[in-house]
Amino acid sequence: MRLIVDLARCRGHAQCVLAAPDVVELSEDGKSRVLNELIEPAFADQARTAELLCPEEAFTIVDDDLPQPHHHHHGP
Ligand code: SF4
Repeated sequence: MRLIVDLARCRGHAQCVLAAPDVVELSEDGKSRVLNELIEPAFADQARTAELLCPEEAFTIVDDDLPQPHHHHHGP
């Protein structure tokens, strides 16, 4: 799983930082920063909570550990 933040949307409410302190921090410019875009399974709940809580819907969660229909097919 990856957590991506769109800083153009972030308004610095810091809801995400309170909800997911192991995943997001507040950077010096008052916007959120994802500590490690690749989310460990232990922090998946935090990442999802941050995504749900953000009033600006600034987060995108990419569930790339699951099989995706658009994965490449190798071979002829
Ligand atoms: S909750 Fe959303 S708007 Fe607020 S700091 Fe986090 S990402 Fe930015």
